[in-house]
Amino acid sequence: MAHIKLHIPGPVEVSEKTFKAFCSPMIGHRGQGFKDLYAKMQPQLQELLYTKQLVYLATSSAWGVMEGALRNVVQKKVLNCMCGAFSDKWFDVSKKCGKEAEALQVNWGSPIRAEEIDKKLSTGQFDALTLIHNETSTGTMSPLDEIAALKKKYPDVMFIVDAVSSMTATKIAFDDLGIDVLLAGTQKAFALPPGLTVFTCSPAALAKAAQAKDRGYYFDFVEFQKNAEQSMTPSTPSISHIYALSSKLDDFFAEGLDARFARHLKLAKMTRDWAAKHGLTLFPEPGFESVTLTCVNNGAKPGGRVIDAAKLQKLVKDQGILIDGGYGKIKGTTFRLSNMGDETEETMNHLYSVLDNAMEQL
Ligand SMILES: *Cc1c(COP(=O)(O)O)cnc(C)c1O
Repeated sequence: MAHIKLHIPGPVEVSEKTFKAFCSPMIGHRGQGFKDLYAKMQPQLQELLYTKQLVYLATSSAWGVMEGALRNVVQKKVLNCMCGAFSDKWFDVSKKCGKEAEALQVNWGSPIRAEEIDKKLSTGQFDALTLIHNETSTGTMSPLDEIAALKKKYPDVMFIVDAVSSMTATKIAFDDLGIDVLLAGTQKAFALPPGLTVFTCSPAALAKAAQAKDRGYYFDFVEFQKNAEQSMTPSTPSISHIYALSSKLDDFFAEGLDARFARHLKLAKMTRDWAAKHGLTLFPEPGFESVTLTCVNNGAKPGGRVIDAAKLQKLVKDQGILIDGGYGKIKGTTFRLSNMGDETEETMNHLYSVLDNAMEQL
């Protein structure tokens, strides 16, 4: 079967080099070989997340740690900041975990603003909040710096941040931001196969977790810390993913983090320009567009041209590329083009030429 190249916002295209590393021979996860592998990666992971904390590796997709974070650090009530399909779902997951939860819902396409969070936290009801940095369903980035600055005013509130589709694509300085939990699954901006989650915790989050009686085992943050101190994971990890991650970290540092961040921003801007050239508007509120994907408005909100996106998707697929036809309640009225992972000006220009060609056939 011919390979269809992924330009959807996750999973994304995985390089030959990464797959080769993924297929390295198995080793024992309690042996020196594994410890050496994890220990070699630890300083790279810490540099990537701008942290002195240990960085953990969980064998699960992001939702495992998103749910785990609630179980570890929410004792009183969690404020779920909601602006799209993934962040909205986190509210449901809070309730499914038996947590007291409140929704801070804004319109899809709008970012979460610090001012709104401040109003809610000032009630004193909350001991935690969840935030999605880059809401992948709407292609909208919330201003993390401005939100994290609230931590000074509310030091006892645990800030849980999902950076699933932004970690490695833009700078997220964990220690300086002062947030408490930061996580990302690997099939998005990391460009690895799905199945691994990278995360870290503040000392305060670990202290809080240690007090949580019903935090479970598989995502027990205290276990992750204890094991990471020995360059191990609590249970048998997907060693294949960890080999692949090690290879990928070498790629990140060969490119340079700043160059990597600049590349993502440049490619996202190119896609925004492509849309404008065709009279299409974007779904996110101006100024809050994602740097890893572009969510094109196609009738979800007023303004701009509306095209037959299903036909566009099919025509593009016939040329060997998969684009996304929208997610959640804006499926069909938006479509999404991803530039996350290893994309370059050259690969993006190829995408635009295939899209241009398809647009002429609509
Ligand atoms: C994809 C995604 C998730 C869910 O990840 P899974 O891999 O399905 O667990 C969560 N948050 C964001 C922002 C995402 O893009």
